[in-house]
Amino acid sequence: MFGLMQDQPLLISSAIRHAARNHGKAEIVSKLVDGTIHRTNYAAIEPRTRRLARAMQRLGLQATDRVGTLAWNSYRHLELYYGVSGSGLICHTINPRLAPADIAFIINHATDRVLCVDLTFAPLIQAIAEHITASIRAVVFLCEPHEMPSLALPAGMDLLCYETLMADADEDYTWPVFDERTAASLCYTSGTTGRPKGVLYSHRSTILHAMATNFPDAFGLSARDRVMPVVPMFHVNAWGTPYSVPMVGGSLIMPGRHLDGASLTALINDERVTMSAGVPTIWLGLLNHLRSSGQRIDTIKRLGVGGSACPRMIMQAFEREYGATVVHAWGMSETSPVASANAETEASQALDQPEYWRMRDKQGQALYGVEMKITGNGGVELPWDGVAQGDLLVRGPWVASAYFGNEAGSALDTEGWFATGDVATIDADGRMEVTDRSKDVIKSGGEWISSIALENIAIEHPDVAEAAIIAATHPKWDERPLLIVVPRAGRVIDPASVLAIYEGKIAKWWLPDAVLVVEELPHTATGKIHKLTLRQRFKDHLLSS
Ligand code: AMP
Repeated sequence: MFGLMQDQPLLISSAIRHAARNHGKAEIVSKLVDGTIHRTNYAAIEPRTRRLARAMQRLGLQATDRVGTLAWNSYRHLELYYGVSGSGLICHTINPRLAPADIAFIINHATDRVLCVDLTFAPLIQAIAEHITASIRAVVFLCEPHEMPSLALPAGMDLLCYETLMADADEDYTWPVFDERTAASLCYTSGTTGRPKGVLYSHRSTILHAMATNFPDAFGLSARDRVMPVVPMFHVNAWGTPYSVPMVGGSLIMPGRHLDGASLTALINDERVTMSAGVPTIWLGLLNHLRSSGQRIDTIKRLGVGGSACPRMIMQAFEREYGATVVHAWGMSETSPVASANAETEASQALDQPEYWRMRDKQGQALYGVEMKITGNGGVELPWDGVAQGDLLVRGPWVASAYFGNEAGSALDTEGWFATGDVATIDADGRMEVTDRSKDVIKSGGEWISSIALENIAIEHPDVAEAAIIAATHPKWDERPLLIVVPRAGRVIDPASVLAIYEGKIAKWWLPDAVLVVEELPHTATGKIHKLTLRQRFKDHLLSS
């Protein structure tokens, strides 16, 4: 017997409709490419998203066609999120930081029909246009008619203006109702090895993920929040904030392309931002700016951090000096992305300081809806004792089951688990801690050393701006940790003093064998340190020295 409750599909259009009807005056503030501030609200933007759906129809697009976006966080990108997905098309957000050849590859792989592009990316479009003629019929610039760039596109590829399309369309459009499992958006993983792979989110997965990130121990948003997603809308849907914030009726403050400490501080203060989300590098940049300028960010109550392990120093600085609680979360493109967040409990708040901060280092408990486990040799499940480390597996309604173009379920094992590629421990309180990417682990004499733990300690050194640990080949121990550091501006790093900072913080045999000082580290398109390049360059360093 089925329950007798309404069977309403979970569709993305419902979030913007809800916000417009119940929280119409909540704002969407965007810092545009030219640096000016644009203000609108949900009541005004919702009809525009329907107008956009109509405009896409008039371009001849049909259900599940892909519309690519190359854009910063702004109200127009938000309109695309809803106008495209809400009408049954697939919003394919493309990371402009990828190499042009990779961008062309994923546009062709996704067979995008239309590209919607911020003005900043006109040169990129010019460079790749010849390579995307197989699928792209039109390039739409997200601007007013008078701002249109003059580009020579190949035959069969129209150059269009977003605001002209909008002006020519009407709002007499009703959101269609369809199966909630329909694909809604597509995002390619950054691909540190091999070609990027597409993760295809559904309406259902997107709505459930956004609702779960609104739990109090995750991002805990409310109608009083003014949320500034620094995480880009071009990577994993800005951690779901374009959906989760409208759901609660909060305001969205879109920082555009200006993500340096000074720009963020100004926007936070001007727009009274209460919550923001970003990767550790962003918060480090903000922290450095605040400390050197003496400015404050007193409206901020919470900062969501993920994408890489959040160094303890960042949590302590924001909490002690700026009164902002740091929420340490973990996830990946394949998990929509948020799958865990470190929830404080009565017991954890009573821990003494060293234990308390060890607890805070962790990436936390699975959000309700997600299951996690760790496995060792032969796939045997390992105990949750905070010590045993193994491959981290996850499953749940917002975890990918396959990559775009592959059979549903093809990325899972026979019990439906997805192997994350991360190595982790889980403690008796359910708190998971990522110790490494599996391909980055250091196996010294058969024992694992956590590169993340060593990196987090290195960046506590006052002269170190960024640190990476790689496995270097060693004649006796197979692999030993090699520390590669970048000095802060105007500072000189004394390797011995960096090694001294590990004293008493780690087992002696974890101490890096050498410290290399370099001017900069290679990064992936999502801002992570590109360890493969480092290993290729430095893996024989200990043999040669
Ligand atoms: P992406 O798919 O590009 O978002 O990258 C996902 C990967 O980032 C994960 O598999 C982890 O290796 C890493 N990651 C994400 N969040 C964290 C975190 N809080 N701590 C450590 N690593 C993280």
